[in-house]
Amino acid sequence: MSSALRILIVGAGIAGCCTAAALAGRGHRVTLIEKQAVWRFQSSGIFVYSNGLESLRDVGVADAVLATGFAVDQGRNRYLDHLGQPIVDVFYPRSVDDQLPAILGIKRAELHRVLVQHLDSLGLAPRLDTAFTHLDEHADGVTVTFSDGRQEAFDLVIGADGVRSQVRVHVCGDLPPRYSGFGVWRSVHRRPPELRDKVMLMGPGKRLGIMPISEDHLYLFGTVRQPEGHWMDPARWPALMRESFAEFQGPVRPFLDELGDGSEVLYTAVEEVIAPLPWHRGRVLLIGDAAHASTPFMGQGGAMAVADAVELARQLPATRDASALETALVRWSALRQPVCRLVQDASRAVGEAGARELNDPQACLQRDRAMRENAQRQVDTFFAQLRQPA
Ligand SMILES: Cc1cc2nc3c(=O)[nH]c(=O)nc-3n(C[C@H](O)[C@H](O)[C@H](O)COP(=O)(O)OP(=O)(O)OC[C@H]3O[C@@H](n4cnc5c(N)ncnc54)[C@H](O)[C@@H]3O)c2cc1C
Repeated sequence: MSSALRILIVGAGIAGCCTAAALAGRGHRVTLIEKQAVWRFQSSGIFVYSNGLESLRDVGVADAVLATGFAVDQGRNRYLDHLGQPIVDVFYPRSVDDQLPAILGIKRAELHRVLVQHLDSLGLAPRLDTAFTHLDEHADGVTVTFSDGRQEAFDLVIGADGVRSQVRVHVCGDLPPRYSGFGVWRSVHRRPPELRDKVMLMGPGKRLGIMPISEDHLYLFGTVRQPEGHWMDPARWPALMRESFAEFQGPVRPFLDELGDGSEVLYTAVEEVIAPLPWHRGRVLLIGDAAHASTPFMGQGGAMAVADAVELARQLPATRDASALETALVRWSALRQPVCRLVQDASRAVGEAGARELNDPQACLQRDRAMRENAQRQVDTFFAQLRQPA
């Protein structure tokens, strides 16, 4: 009997694609399904810090990602107030071996193109337009009924199906995502050559950042408080984004001014998922946002998804024995949960601290003072904890 596990991965986002590549790299027989008939990528960028780049290197795509995105010189993040006055510069750490930059910005569609090309090179084309209707678990496997009615047996099913995971229902029962109270605006613009750093403008209760994502482009990302269920007509998003940050000046102003019909703008209501351990039930496992979606204030959700994939590939046994599989899955989530929780808690705390500044100018002054004194130390501490959680 072959010792390779037959593994179904549901969802071909960052988590699903990286898990497929990492597990196929260990010789497992991977099937990757994606419910979208034609991949639609969110129009925006994503930033990947050095820990995420280390994991992407383990997956085998760091060179391609580095060639496509934009690495920020010296990992510098310039913090300004919302009028563009400097508060403090903070420097993010390079990879542990100093081989990878501190922060890379990349367009999401480009990151996905790199991942899918890598999967193609492994002979692993995702099955698009495919979901599942039923998971029937038995002692020696899971029989999956796909949306086209076909059935197949697997040793392990991995739910990489995001915040609104259907697989999570099987593992945790009804566990809907929790609305964070924040909405995020993002827009893509041409990059002036001189804009090479990550820049963050700290408004009262709002944040608006600039991140280069290629030689030609950058993206703006801004967070605002927003009541749950607040609907906005996508046709009005460019105007609404401009209005949301009307009080902001400095380097963001020209980009806000150019927002109009035809601009690439995206609004996302941010949700969190805190699935309790274990992140599996029997032979069905959750990974990435399906298990631990985070608010985006630390910019680490994607990196956590890639690290999940790399660690799972390390832990999975080279045998189809049920108890070895159970032991590996327990060990995997025990390793991954503390660091994912660290990111979630830190990110939530940053968002909530910002929200407390609303309508309180004193709070902003105190924040700026505290940032000058503590911001670099906080970044250094966070990255030390990421790499070695307590
Ligand atoms: C506003 C915002 C900004 C962010 N910025 C950053 C950042 O700068 N850096 C960073 O590291 N992280 C960032 N993140 C977090 C990051 O985007 C996510 O953590 C990451 O994309 C999660 O990937 P995933 O593959 O787990 O989920 P998803 O990206 O949601 O992928 C899930 C996939 O599964 C598919 N799917 C769903 N259900 C099914 C089904 N039943 N059958 C088949 N397929 C299915 C979906 O179509 C999708 O393709 C941000 C998040 C937000 C909300």
